[in-house]
Amino acid sequence: MTVRVSELVQYQICPRLVFFGTRAHDERDHALQPQNATRTRNRIEAFILKEIAFNLYRIINCELDIAGVIGDILDSVPRIYREELLWRECDLASVSEDIMRAVNKEWLDKLQNAQGLELELVHGYERERVLYSEPLDLSGSVDKLIIADEELIPCIIKTGKSPEYGVWRSDRLQLAAYAMLLEDEFRRTVRRGFVQYIRCAEFREVLIRRADRAMVLQVLKRVKRIKRGVFPDRSRNAPCENCTYADTCNIRRTFLSVLLDGGTGKSQRQK
Ligand code: SF4
Repeated sequence: MTVRVSELVQYQICPRLVFFGTRAHDERDHALQPQNATRTRNRIEAFILKEIAFNLYRIINCELDIAGVIGDILDSVPRIYREELLWRECDLASVSEDIMRAVNKEWLDKLQNAQGLELELVHGYERERVLYSEPLDLSGSVDKLIIADEELIPCIIKTGKSPEYGVWRSDRLQLAAYAMLLEDEFRRTVRRGFVQYIRCAEFREVLIRRADRAMVLQVLKRVKRIKRGVFPDRSRNAPCENCTYADTCNIRRTFLSVLLDGGTGKSQRQK
């Protein structure tokens, strides 16, 4: 039962996302379900920002002016994300106006000084390298893999907000998981990686600690249990309002409560 790194991240957000994702008739179909306009727009914006992160060398080297690079990216997004955008009525032009406003002089100045950017510009990177570890039964594809001389440096791109300091817990877990996959494949220790919060041009270095590796193993075990059929509790801060599984989750919760309280409408604790 192979677990994907993305499922470890989902677990951190809400364990039930893993449960429903595993059981979706075809998870990719589910991911392609029409959603509301805001979600669609956010998703398109994330694709564009991600492609910007894959084109930093062009932006820094002023291959074209920034508007020219963004124009190129907008042309390529529908092809690169064809599957995800297939059915969508997407107004790329209006999203791009917002992106152009965000990618301003201040953003460019921050980008020039972003931590770790120099490494990427000097050594280049491999895009979305697919990784698999048989002993862990874990797979994933790391956004950027920089190989600086002998050093392996995984980088992940995030299109949301950055925390004030450091990185989000789920980002640390994700990076550690890629580090462990790389170690199994290359038989070398991975000591650090980067999270590129591209929206605000904040790149943060993360040292891969023993505690991070232990967390990956612990979450991996829990995810495997869920994939075997154990229905998990929701997380305390589960983002139910924006969840595409909200209806299924509520139906299932109602069904479970009927079973638990024998249809009396009272929970076991209330009796
Ligand atoms: S609706 Fe809430 S509890 Fe259910 S899967 Fe989504 S985020 Fe988790």
